[in-house]
Amino acid sequence: MAGYTPMIQQYLKIKAEYQDAFLFFRLGDFYEMFFDDALNASQELEITLTSREGGSEDRIPMCGIPYHSAANYIDILIEKGFKVAICEQTEDPKQAKGVVRREVVQLITPGTKMDSKGLREKENNYIATITHFSNDQFGFGYNDLSTGENKVTLIENFDEVLNEFAILGASEVVIAADFNEEWKKKLQERGAAALSLEDNLEHSESFVPLLHLLKDEKQMTTTSRLLNYLYRTQKRSLDHLQPVLAYETSHFMKIDYYSKRNLELTETIRSKGKKGSLLWLLDETKTAMGGRMLKQWIDRPLINKKQIERRQSLVETLKSQYFERQDLRERLKEVYDLERLAGRVAFGNVNARDLIQLKRSLQQVPVIREIVKSMASNQDISVLADKLDPCEEVTDLLETALVENPPLSVKEGNIIRDGFHTELDTYRDASRNGKTWIAQLEREERERTGIRSLKIGYNRVFGYYIEVTRANLHLLEEGRYERKQTLTNAERYITPELKEKEALILQAEEKSISLEYDLFLNLREEIKSYIPRLQDLAKGVSELDVLQCFATISEERHYVKPVFSENRRIVLKEGRHPVVEKVLQSQEYVPNDCFMDSERELLLITGPNMSGKSTYMRQIALTSILAQIGCFVSATTAELPIFDKVFTRIGAADDLISGQSTFMVEMLEARNAITNATENSLILFDEIGRGTSTYDGMALAQAIIEYIHEEIGAKTLFSTHYHELTVLASELPKLKNIHVSAIEQNGNVVFLHKIKEGPADKSYGIHVAKLADLPKQLIDRAAAILAQLENENGQAKELPAQPAVVSKEPITETAPKAEVNEAQLSFFREEAPKEKISSSPKEKKV
Ligand code: ADP
Repeated sequence: MAGYTPMIQQYLKIKAEYQDAFLFFRLGDFYEMFFDDALNASQELEITLTSREGGSEDRIPMCGIPYHSAANYIDILIEKGFKVAICEQTEDPKQAKGVVRREVVQLITPGTKMDSKGLREKENNYIATITHFSNDQFGFGYNDLSTGENKVTLIENFDEVLNEFAILGASEVVIAADFNEEWKKKLQERGAAALSLEDNLEHSESFVPLLHLLKDEKQMTTTSRLLNYLYRTQKRSLDHLQPVLAYETSHFMKIDYYSKRNLELTETIRSKGKKGSLLWLLDETKTAMGGRMLKQWIDRPLINKKQIERRQSLVETLKSQYFERQDLRERLKEVYDLERLAGRVAFGNVNARDLIQLKRSLQQVPVIREIVKSMASNQDISVLADKLDPCEEVTDLLETALVENPPLSVKEGNIIRDGFHTELDTYRDASRNGKTWIAQLEREERERTGIRSLKIGYNRVFGYYIEVTRANLHLLEEGRYERKQTLTNAERYITPELKEKEALILQAEEKSISLEYDLFLNLREEIKSYIPRLQDLAKGVSELDVLQCFATISEERHYVKPVFSENRRIVLKEGRHPVVEKVLQSQEYVPNDCFMDSERELLLITGPNMSGKSTYMRQIALTSILAQIGCFVSATTAELPIFDKVFTRIGAADDLISGQSTFMVEMLEARNAITNATENSLILFDEIGRGTSTYDGMALAQAIIEYIHEEIGAKTLFSTHYHELTVLASELPKLKNIHVSAIEQNGNVVFLHKIKEGPADKSYGIHVAKLADLPKQLIDRAAAILAQLENENGQAKELPAQPAVVSKEPITETAPKAEVNEAQLSFFREEAPKEKISSSPKEKKV
């Protein structure tokens, strides 16, 4: 250190405390970075690397960015998972003796972004925390700094912790310095860009009030770790943080991380984007807050029947009143992000325009409340309406304090209304009077001199001046005017009385601007005290928004209200996969029924590739999820159990990232399902056992089916291309075969996408290869090999000599009669109507 200049020494001292962050070191109008930070930042940000003298032999690497455009650069670094420590000059350089004092004023991390640019409107930005208590107990908490939300729970094993973490999509996790290395790696695999350390577990005074709803000491400890980290890094009052709520993961439907991904609930597997997901389909929310709540609801479907039915009844009311709902949607569109506005008020990040947005949003609330009340055919909706507190005090305050169109900056005046503050009015009068006086003076000077073009102007350098064109100079009275500036065609003068007035005007202006700033800060402070009420309002509005969204979708897409059976039955008539149905648009989606009860616990699905097996299975899961978040479902009749957990094993393309073989992942997921499922769970297994040799795979698949059948009794859909498995139905009474039908026409396969009873008769693999446009020569060769193989195995006799025709499909012959009420099942047994086949657009010519 010794050889360095004092400033570089100061830099190194501060940097030592922020090893894991880029230190943005304020130097005048720039944030500078030095040494390794400079080398790395110049690469990450693609900015020029320079160097400077620093007292040592070598020049010091350096790069910098102008402070006014820092936000963009910070976003880029945070997005890449880095942290940025903002180090400001904390004393006036003019007063400083020696090096100006500098301090880090905020540490910005992936989990603590507050700037609206880096935040996605309809997504939360969570930071999580994990505390390990004993072998099998973990405290898990999370916070969204932008909205103030705080939650905590206790979890019994680390896999579940990972699951919770992954559900949140958090990019940062706060842990103890000695946290288990292997767990750290797993967290990183699940998206933790930043692992941040905090060992202070004290319940500090600044956040004790946030803990008052917690009863469990472990929950408090878990939360304290996170809150200590937030206060330490943000270095300011966090008045918008909401009291920490404890929750139980067992109060929601459990869907593990892989299943969530496989079902594409909030993002698709391929694009990792929202488009094509269930969230995308459903998102008819009109506010950012509603958008976030919708995602939260999808992430955590309910399992409490009362709670689900409450949502359902609200959706029903909103759905039935079309015009009121349209009206409501228009109004909701005008409501800004109250939740994040409240957060920014606390953070001190709002300007007058934000507060005007707040006012306009609040002004919508009484109207919204009226609309909702006018629908009040049901108790729940009037309760919801009453929750919408318009916070009139805030509206009134903002209305009297702020002008309608304030400028962006809060330091240049013109934000406070006349009449709001007497002293401000006096200054303003002085400055306005002064200006009138000057206009008057201009008139007088024109009369006195007879120069009609004489004018009084203002510029920053000379202040007020009298300007006379060259041609008229001879008309000026000698000695009265003092020349200040010469232009090509004119001269500018001042007079003592002009200067005297100018001083008064400028002084008044300066005072009024600084007073306005103070008044604005006071206003912001005053609004702070309403933050909890604003947050409650935000919750009410969000909920209403999600419910109207469900109502809108349910109406537009002809969904039906599901009923929940006590006897674990699934009865779906004309069910559709909600997303595929929307994506297909004008093309015909073939609806399918589903019936399962205590006699039909497992369905073994066979049928050609591409026929719609996995679409059918996913449809059942998505329908259950829609039902349990309170939305209506894509069917014409729906009776469903309330599932406690959903497990899926549906071939995913990107298992490879975790470094495990597809087969291993398959087995791990199978284990997960089998060890955790109950008879109230739903299991979807798509082609399990495919990743290994035929006999291995088949044996495992059979063993898994038998195990579920005997030991678990969960509702299970199992698709397979091992036709051999279909004989299991004769041994396992609760297992039934179903298949997706397809027919051959002129050598082409036609997918009917229709689910029927009984096993499929053949597999059509070669036809699918044909559809995929493999070379004809290759297809012919495959057909020949197949024929040969079939002959060798003596299976040829089982295959129809002619292409199968739908009417010949062995439906009743192969399907053992299920012992359920025939009437209930009749819809399920129907064959695809013939005319549909001939007019089917799905025939694909090769
Ligand atoms: P499999 O699992 O049998 O290989 P998929 O379920 O992946 O087949 O379905 C293949 C394609 O068929 C889907 O991408 C979808 O476009 C279409 N499809 C599936 N089910 C239906 C249906 N019921 N109606 C219309 N098209 C469907």
